[in-house]
Amino acid sequence: MKWECKDALEWGWKKHPLGAIIPEGGNARHFNTGSWRSLRPVLDKEKCSQCLLCFIYCPDSSIITRDEKVVDIDYEHCKGCGICAETCPRNAIEMILESQAQKAK
Ligand code: SF4
Ligand code: SF4
Repeated sequence: MKWECKDALEWGWKKHPLGAIIPEGGNARHFNTGSWRSLRPVLDKEKCSQCLLCFIYCPDSSIITRDEKVVDIDYEHCKGCGICAETCPRNAIEMILESQAQKAK
């Protein structure tokens, strides 16, 4: 069965099949699934040794790399689980309250 997802933002309840089937793999990229995060990881690039452990362990593929180096965090999809901060051997990632980050903007 092929699902058409390009109109997903307009979906109402009638479009949803019983059982809440996920229509295709990787569809979270279309949504801001990090919007309900309560904690935000903040990367200190000065402390980072580029070991890439955070990239390996992040369950949401939210550590952004370029040329095999960590360059940023994808806040559209990061859920704030804190695994990256726990994993980091250099304490280069600090978890702060999302509300604190929003106030600082
Ligand atoms: S807090 Fe969790 S989801 Fe967000 S970047 Fe770190 S490991 Fe990934
Ligand atoms: S785990 Fe820490 S030191 Fe390693 S790449 Fe990630 S932020 Fe940098």
